[in-house]
Amino acid sequence: MSYIYDSNNQLQIVQILDGKTLSVTIQRELGDEVDLLIEKGKKRPHLAAVIVGSNPASKVYVGHKIKACDRVGFKSSLIELGDDITQDQLIAEIEKLNEDADIDGFIVQLPLPRHIDNQAVIQAVRPSKDVDGFHPVNIGKMTMGLDGFIPATPLGIITMLDRYNITTEGKKVAVLGRSNIVGTPMSILLSRNADIGNATVTLCHSRTKNLDDILRNADIIVAAIGRDRFVTEDLVKEGAIVIDVGINSIPDQTKKSGYRLVGDVDFEHVAPKCAFITPVPGGVGPLTVAALLMNTLKAAKATS
Ligand code: NDP
Repeated sequence: MSYIYDSNNQLQIVQILDGKTLSVTIQRELGDEVDLLIEKGKKRPHLAAVIVGSNPASKVYVGHKIKACDRVGFKSSLIELGDDITQDQLIAEIEKLNEDADIDGFIVQLPLPRHIDNQAVIQAVRPSKDVDGFHPVNIGKMTMGLDGFIPATPLGIITMLDRYNITTEGKKVAVLGRSNIVGTPMSILLSRNADIGNATVTLCHSRTKNLDDILRNADIIVAAIGRDRFVTEDLVKEGAIVIDVGINSIPDQTKKSGYRLVGDVDFEHVAPKCAFITPVPGGVGPLTVAALLMNTLKAAKATS
């Protein structure tokens, strides 16, 4: 529970959804499960990550994932490829990972260089090793409520809602952004007939009309558009639950790096109105990593 002053200098109670701490808890639980597997003589779960080119943000994200593997006792492999690799060569690398019996799951970090077709790469990953949950088979299974891999960021978010005992049934949800990796799967998950689901979801995008009204009416907002502090105080109703997926870098001369990270939500002004809100950084991001590990353990258990 946190206390925040609103724009009228009134003290408000708001619960910050602390993704960082929850991610540590989940990783500890996963570590215990790995210990049990090893005690039973099973093999150590193994995640591989493929990174193409030298995108600095991608390197940071993959670095977090590899470090997290170490923390929970997974084996990990990092495959770094030059940005001049052809699509066929990349798919040949993916085929090797598909066939490698020691690797339980792998990810190909996005974005890929422009000359490579993302969909061709995503569809080359064997669905049973697709721990990012991006393959159409896994998206289809999720849509139909069948068991498969759920994309890591939406899985992290529903795990967070579940662990904080936040009910979604009957709530009006506005999901802002319709990407295949965040917005669209998030809208499907919250619409499903499931414990974290049964909500009425409006999926919003750049062509949505009356966006402001949709946001003002929402009990839950999931913001995933990649626009620095787009969701302002006037767009959020009192007592709303706000999940901020956005990661935007803005100049900040007070920081050694010269920049800082902010979300798609104007946290400072929106938080006092909310029942629950995720911060950026320290909200959804760490849970995305935890969810990837959850998927990898699931893949490992399926074959051991
Ligand atoms: P994409 O860039 O793929 O998609 C953005 C979506 O936002 C599109 O659907 C687009 O609409 C919509 N959009 C853009 N501008 C507006 C607007 N003004 N009004 C309404 N809708 C708009 O985004 P991602 O889903 O890949 O990422 C979104 C954000 O989340 C980024 O900041 C990214 O860095 C972050 N992210 C964070 C993760 C984490 O772990 N915390 C994981 C993944 C992403 P249209 O389809 O019409 O173009």
